[in-house]
This record gives sequence, structure tokens and C-alpha cells, in this order.
Amino acid sequence: MNLKQILLCGAEICGLNCLSRFWTRRRLLGLCYHSVVSDASPQNDARTRIAVTVTQFNEQLKELRKNWNPVSLLQIRNAIENGIPLPDRAVHISFDDGYRNNLTLAVPLLAQYEIPATIFVTTNMIATHGELIWALELHERLVAFPDSEIEIDGTTYPLPPPESPKRTEIALELLNHVKRLPIKECNILLQKLRNRVMIDWSPSWKRELYEFLDWDELRLLRGQGIEIGAHTLSHPVLSCLNQAELNRELLESKRCLERELGIECDVLAYPFGSENDFSDRVVDVARDIGFRLAFTLRECRNAVMLDAMRIHRICIHREHSLNSFRALISGLRNISLFLP
Ligand SMILES: [Zn+2]
Repeated sequence: MNLKQILLCGAEICGLNCLSRFWTRRRLLGLCYHSVVSDASPQNDARTRIAVTVTQFNEQLKELRKNWNPVSLLQIRNAIENGIPLPDRAVHISFDDGYRNNLTLAVPLLAQYEIPATIFVTTNMIATHGELIWALELHERLVAFPDSEIEIDGTTYPLPPPESPKRTEIALELLNHVKRLPIKECNILLQKLRNRVMIDWSPSWKRELYEFLDWDELRLLRGQGIEIGAHTLSHPVLSCLNQAELNRELLESKRCLERELGIECDVLAYPFGSENDFSDRVVDVARDIGFRLAFTLRECRNAVMLDAMRIHRICIHREHSLNSFRALISGLRNISLFLP
């Protein structure tokens, strides 16, 4: 156990997490997951970092059931619209993108602990096979790109050997740069990569990580009490879109879910979700279109008075040990900044 792990463990034993939970007990905690994958999937791969394993998810749900009060979307809605207060230490769980593993691996555990959840789906990806959200496709193809350098937007970047751990890390850094470029530039790069690189679908962990739900499975999830919300049509950076594209991404994804699932869909999660990925203009358009609740990924706790169109969530990754998860969600996350 290294120093950081010892201190994180100490935070639990000494009651620091408990104290912090009490201090922030009236501020809703939003948690965002993506994929839940088998324990056997590769650990040290940047591509599975955004997932959690079944064992991790089980431990985390146990912790939430023990020390927190999991709340539903309806309770959040009632708190905002009808002034019905949330319980102390309220936590809401959601999943972004719409992966099949949410149904096969996450929901059985949620049911076991009687914890409600919301899934935000990228509607263009529903029922597709062998397709990836564009940002993940870029990452996947950058990892396998055969050359030792690549030109992006006029700059040449050196690349470590394909499929090496270093390459997956560099590809992730490049992706964070690329996703801020105009859509045209992204598409040029994507096309260049498609011409040179095939995605290797043979590892079973990739299918488990990336496969999307289909409409029947989403109806099944609805029947099991899982709330379904919109996550746009194609997962763009909304703040980079012009007005017509923004309208289309928001309105069409809403209509598509309403048509296919027979529900009223007025809940949205902004793709990527950080401060720079949506803007006041995006929020206004979303509200005008008919969204009444919207979730961010601003990695912070909410204020006591919730902002309906900016409900913040913290993203949970595979790298969080149980002790770091406890400290993170209790509000001691910045402890990590002071540790080696
Ligand atoms: Zn997403």
C-alpha cells in the first residue's frame, strides 16, 4: 500500500469522510458512469479507464446503500419543481451513452441494492453493431494507426508504437485536442484514419465495452424502472455547433426517444459535459426545446438550491479504489492533490 492509499484509508478510519458527508449532506451528489465491464477486461488500458468493473460497481453500490440515500429522477424533479426536499446525503446514479453492459451487468446489481438510475442514450448509436461514438472511434483508430507520426490540423505529432500503453495514452491526449477542432477538421482526420486503420473487434472485452443497447432492450429497461434521457443524436461538443445543428441534435434525439419508447423525454445529459462543452446558449436552446432537467459532468457537488439545467455529476473511473471512491464522493477528492 503506498502513502496515498494509506492516507485515503485513514480518511475513512478517522471519520474524515463521515465528517465531510455530514458537512455537505444537503448538496445532491450526482454520479456518472459509462460502461460496467467484466473483471477480466484489461486494467492498464486507457480505453477501459472510463469503465468500472463488476466488482468495483458492486462495492460502490454497497457503499452508497450504506452511507448515502440513492434518489430517483422523480425525486430530483420534485425537489426542483415542487419544493419537496431531497433526503440528506442524496445521491443520483446515471449512465451516459447507452451501452448494453448497463442492462447486462449494471442493472442486476442496481436491482439487488434497490438503487434507481437514469441512462442517457446517444440515439444514433442505438441498435448499431461495430460502430463507435466518433470520439471513441478516433481514439481506437489512433491507437492502431501504423505510422510513427500523424499530422493533425497542420501540426505533426510523434506516435509511440501502435497498441502500446504509451500509444493509448498519447491517443487520448490527441483526442482531447481534436474534439475542440471544427467538425470539418474532425471528419477529415476520421476519414484519413478510416482509410488506413481497421478496428480489431476480436478481443471480447471491446464488444462488452462498446456495444450499444437496442430499442427492445431500452423498452425492457423502462419496464424495470430505469429512466431514459437524451444524450443527443451523435454526441457532438454542443458548444461548437451552429444554431441549426444544435437544434437538430437536441430536438431530434428528444423526439426519437419519445417516438420509440412512448415516453415524454425532458431530461438531457450534455455530451462530454464539462464547462467548455456546453454554454449558456446551449442551455437556452435545450430549455426552449422542452428539456426541464439537464446534467453536466462538471466534476463538482451541486449547490443546495439545484439549478435544473445544470445538475452536476462526478465521473467514476476504473482507477478509483474503494477508498479513493469514498473520499471522492464524500468531498475529500482534493486530498489527492496534496499526495505524491
Ligand atoms: Zn457521453
